[in-house]
Amino acid sequence: MQEEVSKSEKMKMVSDMAASVAHEIRNPLTTVRGFIQLFGSENLDKDKRQLYQKICLEELDRAQVIITDYLSLAKPDPEIIEKIHIHEEISYLSNVLLTYANYNNIQINAILPKEHLLHIVGDRYKFRQALINIGKNAIEAMYNGGLLEIKAYKMYDHVVIIISDTGIGMTAEQIKRLGTPYYSTKEKGTGLGTMVSFGIIKKMNGKIDIKSEQGKGTECNIMFPSA
Ligand code: ADP
Ligand code: MG
Repeated sequence: MQEEVSKSEKMKMVSDMAASVAHEIRNPLTTVRGFIQLFGSENLDKDKRQLYQKICLEELDRAQVIITDYLSLAKPDPEIIEKIHIHEEISYLSNVLLTYANYNNIQINAILPKEHLLHIVGDRYKFRQALINIGKNAIEAMYNGGLLEIKAYKMYDHVVIIISDTGIGMTAEQIKRLGTPYYSTKEKGTGLGTMVSFGIIKKMNGKIDIKSEQGKGTECNIMFPSA
């Protein structure tokens, strides 16, 4: 019985996310469609044409960002349960974030136990998506460079992953709003990244706890049952 409840909860979560993403992608598509129609008109001067083209490209880029934030959930969802090797995933994450970090003068430091391996279970690709979204936010919070630290260790029968940054930080009020759809303080933000990440972590029986101080940085503590 309990199993059924949680399954329908999960279904609802996924369909809520799908609905909000569909809504967000429809806007740029509608805009681009309108401009393409305008391109067909004969009395459109060169400046206007260039401006409209610029807007089209920006809108398409925006749709792309939305899809990227949502990536794992856009895939069909047969529940995949596999062993996830934390060492491998953290090195993958560091590599993915590296190009992004580089042009912002940000250093990435990964700290993992040398003496033993860490494992959890779940869908590896979704797990990646959850960490990438959190890591991206950490990088985006450091305007003038800084340090992104990714740490993992075992605590009793759990695996703890900590992603911390030396960025702008958040107020208690802002922390509370994290994970709610469309909450974004960025000019080109989607407000979907944390919602997707939190959803994935919850689905993997994980817990997330965020500590932050304005002007100092943010620490994202994620805990999963160890496998
Ligand atoms: P987006 O990144 O598109 O704005 P997210 O859902 O990923 O959407 O994040 C929502 C908001 O949470 C961000 O706009 C930002 O204000 C805040 N936030 C998330 N992570 C951090 C962080 N590490 N440091 C500071 N603010 C953060
Ligand atoms: Mg984000």
